[in-house]
Amino acid sequence: METYQNILVAVDFYEQCEEITHKALALSHTYKAKLSIIHVVDNLPILDSSYGVEAPFNMDLITELMDNAKKKLADLAEKLQIPTDQVFLEMGSPKSEIVRVAEENAVDLIVIGSHGRHGLALLLGSTANGVLHYAKCDVLAVRIKDE
Ligand code: AMP
Repeated sequence: METYQNILVAVDFYEQCEEITHKALALSHTYKAKLSIIHVVDNLPILDSSYGVEAPFNMDLITELMDNAKKKLADLAEKLQIPTDQVFLEMGSPKSEIVRVAEENAVDLIVIGSHGRHGLALLLGSTANGVLHYAKCDVLAVRIKDE
């Protein structure tokens, strides 16, 4: 039976993040697979003019967000012993970026939480739903239970 060789875990730094990374790490050990990690800094609403407000492009804020995210991701990757060339920090739509990075790096399994920041009201969160929809590889949605 073919096993997974290249696993990508998607993290949003929300509470359940540890449970998701723990499962991804365990799977990478089981399959002796390479483990990569991704975080996507979401598109900022301040750049969205659909509210009728023309907000200035705030480069300082974006740089600060990216720097903070980079540090958090690097700390988590170090904890999981993931080498730096397998750490992806992207900006844009989380579902699109996760799918793109997975395809470009021949990932064969994406590990994602069933829910994250976007609430527990739905059966699946919007990111998980989008990734399941568009990814060409297998996707494991780690069930996040309502407390
Ligand atoms: P959501 O669908 O947004 O409720 O989140 C479900 C899961 O998608 C989370 O548990 C993460 O695994 C992943 N995810 C959500 N947002 C991001 C993000 N910005 N970057 C990377 N992964 C994310």
